[in-house]
Amino acid sequence: MRILLISDIHANVTAFEAVLAHSEGQWDFVWCLGDVVGYGPDPNQCVELLQTLPQLCLAGNHDWAALNRLDVKTFNPDARRAAEWTQATLTPENTRFLEHLPVTFVIGDYTLVHASPREPIWEYILEPAIATLNFPHFETPYCFVGHTHQPVIYTLPDESGNAESNLPKYNEAYALNGRRQIINPGSIGQPRDQNPKAAYGILDMTSGIFEHRRIPYDIRSVQRRMLEHNLPERLITRLEHGL
Ligand code: ZN
Repeated sequence: MRILLISDIHANVTAFEAVLAHSEGQWDFVWCLGDVVGYGPDPNQCVELLQTLPQLCLAGNHDWAALNRLDVKTFNPDARRAAEWTQATLTPENTRFLEHLPVTFVIGDYTLVHASPREPIWEYILEPAIATLNFPHFETPYCFVGHTHQPVIYTLPDESGNAESNLPKYNEAYALNGRRQIINPGSIGQPRDQNPKAAYGILDMTSGIFEHRRIPYDIRSVQRRMLEHNLPERLITRLEHGL
């Protein structure tokens, strides 16, 4: 079974379509780690496109914001404006899809969450010290997370040691080696590692091979739609910088 691993689409259907076209014929099932909506101009299109695929999707903090399940006043002003626009724009059917997303999922050797195993909606795993604290909070060898929009692999050397972090090598097979790992495939719709290309991963569950990938997409067309919908300027410009 080959898995298309995606996260943080953030209502960017152009990047989402580019990833699907680029990976066509190379996977059997989709694992989506949440934040399907929020920030971008295409919340309905992204929810609808996702539902045409054989998929399992988890809830992210921006999906919850769209449902009013968390207080958008805790967001920064730009994210809040985008969240309120998303709430007003989502159709009732697409809102219902988001309502039913699970917060964690365990399948075989893999735990799936949006943010972190101990705080599945909220916590940012941005450094090895935070990753280290999260290893006791899942039981499988491997955990896939999104949320930070930064592709990375955290590995626990042994049960007493601290996690080490490694940046992925793109388009190269990476063998999951039995050491416990927390892996972030990166964000499709709003990368934040100073690389504007859409990020995703392919996992071969049979051979235990994972591959991080980056691909270009038509950023300008997304920015034009954001402008048309009067979405915050900072959110529009950050797409071309990958910040
Ligand atoms: Zn996100």
